Amino acid sequence: MQNYEMLIDGRWAPAADGQVFQSDNPFTGKPWAVIPRAGLQDVDRAIEAAWAAFRAPAWRGLTASARGLLLYRLADLIEAEADRLAAVETRDNGKLINEMRGQLRYLPQWYRYFGGLADKVEGRVIPIDKPGVFNFTREEPLGVIAVITPWNSPLMLAAWKLAPALAAGNTVVWKPSEYSSASALELGPLFEKAGFPPGVVNIVTGFGSDIGDRLVTHPKVAKVAFTGGDATGEAVYRAAAKHIKPVTLELGGKSANIVFEDCVLDDAVNGVVSGIFAASGQTCIAGSRALVQRSIYDSFVEKLVALSKTARMGDPSADTTQVGPITTQPQYRKILEYIDIARGEGATAVLGGAAATRPECGDGWFVEPTIFVGVKPDMRIAQEEVFGPVLAVIPFDTEDEAIEIANSTQFGLAAGAWTQNIGRALRLSEKLEAGTVWINTYRAVSYLSPFGGYKRSGIGRESGLTAIKEYLQEKSVWIDAQGAPSNPFVMR
Ligand code: NAD
Repeated sequence: MQNYEMLIDGRWAPAADGQVFQSDNPFTGKPWAVIPRAGLQDVDRAIEAAWAAFRAPAWRGLTASARGLLLYRLADLIEAEADRLAAVETRDNGKLINEMRGQLRYLPQWYRYFGGLADKVEGRVIPIDKPGVFNFTREEPLGVIAVITPWNSPLMLAAWKLAPALAAGNTVVWKPSEYSSASALELGPLFEKAGFPPGVVNIVTGFGSDIGDRLVTHPKVAKVAFTGGDATGEAVYRAAAKHIKPVTLELGGKSANIVFEDCVLDDAVNGVVSGIFAASGQTCIAGSRALVQRSIYDSFVEKLVALSKTARMGDPSADTTQVGPITTQPQYRKILEYIDIARGEGATAVLGGAAATRPECGDGWFVEPTIFVGVKPDMRIAQEEVFGPVLAVIPFDTEDEAIEIANSTQFGLAAGAWTQNIGRALRLSEKLEAGTVWINTYRAVSYLSPFGGYKRSGIGRESGLTAIKEYLQEKSVWIDAQGAPSNPFVMR
């Protein structure tokens, strides 16, 4: 068992009341790490530390270029440790080592990109319509940001928030998921090594039910940056509203992957498989609905099942494994419940449809890659996020019908389409109600391109130039250079 401590105000410490919890390895089904279970006292201490650090000259007095340099150093340190951190993530959340290694090797780019942006944040001089008055704007940090992240891509999703928040000059209290805290605690020392002053980044571990509300509602927290499920996101939004706090919410999805008869069939089959079975479907952008044009429906489904059948399940730390376990036991049970719901609604599983009991799955929490046909767009299996390897296949006849079905859920995180017709690609890019639209590709993200949800999939954008704005507020400054007397009883 590995024992961890939390990072508060530059010091590593257990929870004030000594509480801990165990983190399980989803492949073995056994605990492997002991994590501090923070209570309200710990959260308060972390927020106070971040609040003091926000005001201290060691952070506030840094030039934006110097702040950027810290982010560059952090990026280099992560790069050097990427494979070790990836192995910790795989042990903790059961996602494939190939996937986690790829994420960890890529994520320094977020720290570099926003590090580079730190000293390019500029105010404006406004050609104000009042003679003798000079008006300009300042872009200022907000203060303490509460960063709350889920278990599926722990360090990657944290980087999407930490990098712009710190580049903009804020300080942070970060609560990783109770199912994947270890990698956050392994990352902690790198902030210190990079030279961030104590209290600028605090990491508290524990349960949303114990400390989530305090993190969101504490008066010294200026903003909440959250990634997680839509129900939790709604609770966070409500709690933040009581204090008129801004939020960034990256929530769930029910993304459509639309296959037209004019696609390159093998590419589309590959894309649909990658959309739903990569990461065992545990991604917010999972293409969990395949909409398939009726003229190619039978041949497409046949090829889809044939390819999906070949997926190698097993130990996520083996390079050859393609489908790993489900990260948490509650999630595992939820996926199996959705499989029952789909059957109850009249859908038919043409592949999988059960827990996986293959010998190579050991004692892990595995679900067979599952494909449902006979799905109607209004069924729960086609409307609700499962967050597992379960695909609903729905036929359509025309482009308009495909768009209508794709847009018919309350979510709007992403959508994919497979077509050789450029006109259609352009029409879809306009008409699909989703924050990301992929044509002839799927599951591509970059630090350069904005990411976020339409509708119930969220508020705000991460990555790309505009993301730093989520962590800044604009101040308008007026200087009267003329000093002319004016009537105090009317607006100037
Ligand atoms: P979750 O909502 O259960 O938990 C997310 C985080 O919120 C955890 O750290 C949890 O401890 C915390 N939390 C729980 N209750 C809270 C409360 N009342 N107040 C404050 N914080 C609280 O989500 P999860 O199961 O860890 O992750 C899976 C979900 O995340 C899926 O729905 C998925 O779609 C979503 N997700 C979205 C994106 C995106 O960018 N849009 C990316 C990845 C995952």
